[in-house]
Amino acid sequence: MLRHIFFQLSYALRIYRLLPSSPWVTVLCLHRVGVHSHPLFPPLSPNTFRKFIHLLKREFDFTTFTYLGVGDKPIACKRPFVILSFDDGYKDFMEYALPILVEEKIPSNHNIIVDCVETGKPPWTQRFNNILLKIFSLKKDFVIEKAAFHFRVNIKQSIHKVKKDLFKQLFNYDYPFLNELASELENRLDMEQAQDQMMNWNDINECQRWGVEIGSHSYYHSPLCNPSDFWEKEISQSKIHIESRIGKVVHTFAFPNGLVHPEAYQAAVQAGYRNILLIEGGSMLSVEHLSNQVGNYFRRLIRHASPYENYFNVVGFHRLFHR
Ligand SMILES: [Zn+2]
Repeated sequence: MLRHIFFQLSYALRIYRLLPSSPWVTVLCLHRVGVHSHPLFPPLSPNTFRKFIHLLKREFDFTTFTYLGVGDKPIACKRPFVILSFDDGYKDFMEYALPILVEEKIPSNHNIIVDCVETGKPPWTQRFNNILLKIFSLKKDFVIEKAAFHFRVNIKQSIHKVKKDLFKQLFNYDYPFLNELASELENRLDMEQAQDQMMNWNDINECQRWGVEIGSHSYYHSPLCNPSDFWEKEISQSKIHIESRIGKVVHTFAFPNGLVHPEAYQAAVQAGYRNILLIEGGSMLSVEHLSNQVGNYFRRLIRHASPYENYFNVVGFHRLFHR
């Protein structure tokens, strides 16, 4: 609460004007907008999202990758641009974010995971979030085990710390293993299908009609940080599959989990994507890995409950403390 008041007051005093001016384009990474709270993957509330959009509108123009071309600054650019780039393809995007975007006449980008659209299941990462919530609700330590994989959930630790340690290990595996392990745990813990609904192809085509530019966020959301036979499916096949379902060329690839191996980056360039989306402060590629044939965008994660704090994050306030 105090934090919220601090940022609201700082906004009212226009303190953001003291920060260095924004680059000509800032790309934001968003996930869920909705009303169901989730301690490990909290959505922005619809009110926070709407207010955040209003704050952005005062200083920025909204655009998408399609209009930008390959990363050159447009000549007639008076105000800085901002791109709202969503990941994962949750249904609550349609229910809560899209109506606001349509009302405010704002275009956006949404990167979807083919398997989630096809099966309606949430990404494996969210399934493990739900598994951890279930384990903590049982108030007993728990061992997650499969072949050489072994992880003890110590419920005396904070759930956020456990999640961080667990995911660090899981990121060493490809989707088939992660999917099997998640299914085994869901059975063992007697979990019902979570309420995380995903958009289907009709929903995605409907989004397109309302100005949402669709990109690929891979086929299965595998971590792309370790060399694997799976890359071709995740990077190249996801593009082909989405194109066949939406009737448009897919120009944008958002690396899942913010992780990227330099060779996976090259594979995305070779697959014909024009825009490669990464996460600011995530697993960074060094400059010599970046191709100048594509637009490279390090997106800023938007995840605070306060629209004012999110605004300060966009204009670089948080970066002053994380260099
Ligand atoms: Zn994702």
